[in-house]
Amino acid sequence: MEKLTNPTDIARETLKQLALRRIVPSPDHYQSIYHEIAQSSEEERIHPGLRELIQALDGSEHPDAKRQLEQLKRLIKREEWQPLLDQIIRCYNLQHGSADLARNWADLIKDLILQWDLRNPAYPPSRKREALDKVLINFGSDSNELNQKLSGLITAWGETGIDSGLSSAEASEGNAPANPSTTPAEGAAYGGINWQDWRDATVTALELGLQARLSHNPDLQQETQAMAGEARAVSNAAEMDKWLPRLRKFWLKLELQNDQEDRLCDGLMRLLRLLTDNMAEIVVDDEWVRGQIAVVQTIMAQPLDMRVLYDAEAGLKEVLYKQSQVKHSLVEAQSVLKDMLATFIDRLSFMSESTDTYHEKISGYAEKITVANDLTSIRHVMEDLLQDTRSMQLDVMRSRDELREARKQADLAHSRVVELEKELTALSDKVREDQLTGALNRRGLEDAYQIETSRALRSHTQFAVALLDIDNFKKLNDGMGHAAGDAALKHLVTVVKDLLRPTDTVARYGGEEFVVLMPDTNLAAGTMIMQRVQRELTKRFFMHDNEKVLITFSAGITLAEPTEARDAVLKRADEAMYRAKKNGKNRVEQG
Ligand code: GH3
Ligand code: MG
Ligand code: MG
Repeated sequence: MEKLTNPTDIARETLKQLALRRIVPSPDHYQSIYHEIAQSSEEERIHPGLRELIQALDGSEHPDAKRQLEQLKRLIKREEWQPLLDQIIRCYNLQHGSADLARNWADLIKDLILQWDLRNPAYPPSRKREALDKVLINFGSDSNELNQKLSGLITAWGETGIDSGLSSAEASEGNAPANPSTTPAEGAAYGGINWQDWRDATVTALELGLQARLSHNPDLQQETQAMAGEARAVSNAAEMDKWLPRLRKFWLKLELQNDQEDRLCDGLMRLLRLLTDNMAEIVVDDEWVRGQIAVVQTIMAQPLDMRVLYDAEAGLKEVLYKQSQVKHSLVEAQSVLKDMLATFIDRLSFMSESTDTYHEKISGYAEKITVANDLTSIRHVMEDLLQDTRSMQLDVMRSRDELREARKQADLAHSRVVELEKELTALSDKVREDQLTGALNRRGLEDAYQIETSRALRSHTQFAVALLDIDNFKKLNDGMGHAAGDAALKHLVTVVKDLLRPTDTVARYGGEEFVVLMPDTNLAAGTMIMQRVQRELTKRFFMHDNEKVLITFSAGITLAEPTEARDAVLKRADEAMYRAKKNGKNRVEQG
């Protein structure tokens, strides 16, 4: 159709079309056909009052004007009248910087109560209460804002809640970055949900929700801050799309961190349970408890990580195991002592009993002697007396011997108890072996290292020190369980021990790290030995649930000068081991 420009022509044509199309000549229909004929642009079709508002917002300096304007246009286009009305009020308020047209408080409260009482599956009462609390806390001091936010809540609670995105209620509950004017209609701008609201919610979640909870992990806390900064800088939907994979990656990292923390807590709980279980069993008092609590306290003083926990757990297990053995002997010794004492008391009572009988008999005989008036009867008394005295003497002697014997045994048992108690007290310091793997533990390693240093000094030789770290052990633990992990550690130590020379020493240095000391060995020979162990592991598989599992390790090897500090040597080996990891694992690097 040819475009008419003269308003009179357009008006005439409009009336003609109304008649031709048999349309009721209402103002709305007239307007709509008028625009059709005039081929008005979208802008021109808007009501002049609204157009004025749009123009005013267009020129506004207000930071929120652009957003509100877009929202206004969108609602006009979709002809969503109720939200449009709210939006006009918002724009008007924004434009005039006042609450002239803020909703009447009485109506607002009435609506609020109405919506509060209405059931909406998307907004159960608890959620409504939470949202209302937030709005009251955050905006209670500014009645204009409060008015707007409460209106936002009413609108949101009135929605069906089908929209899975951030609803206007959620947006309006929040703090500064959230935007009170969002309605579901705006959501269509970004995959059904408004990207700006997502961005703002993300920033709020990162800054207010997450960052404060990460005080124990400064690195992650900083990263969260950086992520929030990046989110804030997102300025359009395309950028948002580009940025989302980063966010996803970050969530994954958080999840892993969370997982690690869960496992840390589990470890901690196991440790505490072990400790408390044992405390209930303790028979010889305080020394043990104090010793063990000291171990745990030392551990708790360090920053918590899996290795520290494993060390602590392994240490405690060792002490407990040995203690249970000693405790057993101690209980035996105590029961011997008790038996001896019981015999002693028995004997004592027997003696006093027999002495009483003796006294009775003596006085009986004394009476008989007093009344005896012939030699024959005196001789009888004398014979009886002698007989009784002899048996009494025998009894007394027997009791005396038994008493001596009982005392000897009691002394023996007592000294055994004293000895065992001493052994127990010093036990924590004496354990040199790792209970799980049978390798030396850290204390054992210290001693062995000292011995090798003296030997090397005496013989003017060097010795090789290797540090082994199992590859991807965490994965094995995660996939097959902690018990399988433990069994794998045992398997590794068995293989290592089998291939080492008798003079070499293997010690568990940490959770899944081992140190091997090889006296009088140069780097090349030491490296070969370690590689031999690696080859052997590819033949002797670790079996789990009838399945072959290949365990590999990375190792760093270095030569120790006898005059060097142990820590410096281990650090060198550790650095070399780290290189082995970096260069692809399952290899040996020299340092
Ligand atoms: P990488 O090859 O890079 O060393 O990987 P990895 O998995 O070995 O990494 P990392 O050293 O961080 O993980 C070591 C894991 O070893 C942590 C812990 O789950 C596990 N672990 C340490 N001690 C023990 C233990 O006594 N028993 C069991 N089952 N697992 C342990
Ligand atoms: Mg490790
Ligand atoms: Mg490892």
